Amino acid sequence: MIIDTHIHLDDKRYKDDLDEVLNRARVGGVKKFIIPGADPSTIEKAIKIAQNNEDVYFAIGVHPYDLDSFENLNFEQYVSHEKCIAIGECGLDYFRLEGTDEEKQILKQKQKEIFIAQIEIAKKYKKPLIVHIRDASRDSKEILLEYNASEIGGVLHCFNADEELLSLAKENFYFGIGGVVTFKNAKKLINVLPKNPLEKLLIETDGPYLTPTPHRGQRNEPIYTLLIAEKIAEILNKPLSVIENITTSNAINLFHIS
Ligand SMILES: [Zn+2]
Ligand SMILES: [Zn+2]
Repeated sequence: MIIDTHIHLDDKRYKDDLDEVLNRARVGGVKKFIIPGADPSTIEKAIKIAQNNEDVYFAIGVHPYDLDSFENLNFEQYVSHEKCIAIGECGLDYFRLEGTDEEKQILKQKQKEIFIAQIEIAKKYKKPLIVHIRDASRDSKEILLEYNASEIGGVLHCFNADEELLSLAKENFYFGIGGVVTFKNAKKLINVLPKNPLEKLLIETDGPYLTPTPHRGQRNEPIYTLLIAEKIAEILNKPLSVIENITTSNAINLFHIS
């Protein structure tokens, strides 16, 4: 059994065959699905999917690329929903920043403010965080420590293999491993993976993005969590069933779903 801890089922690329996507995954052993919040314009869709499917949960949050929508998002309205299990994805992403150095500084500052605001919301409502970090490990770690995010913990989704982040395992943080681990150029992640405590690993697809080998170029979907679990088992030299059981109980521990 596997839990797909990060799957954008509210993405338009699933709108025509969502039930088939979910059923394929269920038959393959995927037990639960978590839709992260990213773009608030699709949150109603995410809630509807979670209401219609007992095994689907959602999170509420604003991605660092969608900062403008933060002000209009009424977190309070959503956090009390019984299927809302986390705050995020939120975090820092410096990969695609555009403009002059000065403009980039302003954007970074805004990302930080909105990340901090979401950490505070998570603490207030006692929900774990789904954290998105790209090209911003040092600043992200600093903020998580400074604002005591360990109170609620969370997942560093799509773990970027940066060793600097490994110490956050001691601060109640988990590491989301996705399709990247199957890529030919994943050497860094493959080297770092054994240094991750097993009791802090989670599996995620991040579908429709980051499709694992051998399906690269196609839409990603939750059934492919199996390919990720197999690859992790191979790297750590453990039976597949051990990887499935541990990552599933890790997800249950973090998100309090049973
Ligand atoms: Zn992300
Ligand atoms: Zn995502």
